[in-house]
Amino acid sequence: MLEKIEQLLKEIEDLKASNAEELEALRIKYLSKKGAINALMADFRNVAADKKKEVGMKLNELKNRTQERIAALKEAFEAQDNGAAELDLTRTAYPVDLGTRHPLSIVKNEIIDIFSRMGFTIADGPEVEDDWHVFSSMNFAEDHPARDMQDTFFIESHPDIILRTHTSSVQSRVMEVSQPPIRVICPGRVYRNEAISYRAHCFFHQVEGLYVDKNVSFTDLKQVLLQFAKEMFGEDTKIRLRPSYFPFTEPSAEMDISCDICGGEGCPFCKYTGWVEILGCGMVDPAVLEANGIDSKVYSGYAFGMGVERIANLKYKVKDLRMFSENDTRFLTEFEAAN
Ligand SMILES: [Zn+2]
Repeated sequence: MLEKIEQLLKEIEDLKASNAEELEALRIKYLSKKGAINALMADFRNVAADKKKEVGMKLNELKNRTQERIAALKEAFEAQDNGAAELDLTRTAYPVDLGTRHPLSIVKNEIIDIFSRMGFTIADGPEVEDDWHVFSSMNFAEDHPARDMQDTFFIESHPDIILRTHTSSVQSRVMEVSQPPIRVICPGRVYRNEAISYRAHCFFHQVEGLYVDKNVSFTDLKQVLLQFAKEMFGEDTKIRLRPSYFPFTEPSAEMDISCDICGGEGCPFCKYTGWVEILGCGMVDPAVLEANGIDSKVYSGYAFGMGVERIANLKYKVKDLRMFSENDTRFLTEFEAAN
């Protein structure tokens, strides 16, 4: 019996297996119910009483050693498998999906870039604002419809706290802490209480501009906007200004650019007028300057504001405004930016 055990102990030290099938065959041969070790266990009762202790210990050693050996073999060929995979230098690398810049960011950055080169700096302000900075300081009358719940998001239980409806609130914040010359653009997200459709959303993005100094005239405004239009839409772009009304500017105007699809001939995009509207502008109302601590007898200024979505629509001909906020990567990856 002892001889048989010693022989098996030697045998198992030389075991080899290179795959799971071979290993399983070894396990069955030695460790299964009908395996070699169990057969010895069955014979154990025939061992003479004085040898039982010695043989029993040897038998246990054999069993343990066999289990260890088979486990070691398993680990060895598994490690070999992994090693081979890790070292396969012929495999191609997984393609890394680089994101693209959001079309609204591309357009916003382009607008910022153009005005930066004309000497405007960027001003920022909070999206959750108070009534003063959004409406009162901007010369909105107490009964102006924009103050209505229908148009503006109010923070519940705080009738004075709202989500800004335009970035003019940033103009107000700049004026209250600085004196002219002031030349800033205010890019940011704004909110309106509107039903979401292909042409309206409850939030969108604006870039507003403000220039206040001595002797600022409407001519300055027109020249800056013409320069902007040419850089944004091409050298041949023409602009026209139509009289309009805003609470914070006087006189006020809306600016159209010549339709770049038909070149001014008239097409469905420009509704056969040859012109498309892109922004609102005007001379800062003296009441706004005074409300924000600037002497309107000494200084004058102009302001303008445009919707980033509107400019993006014109540049990329995106018909449905909702596409910009639906996170559809098929749409978003269409836009490649250099900046
Ligand atoms: Zn047209």
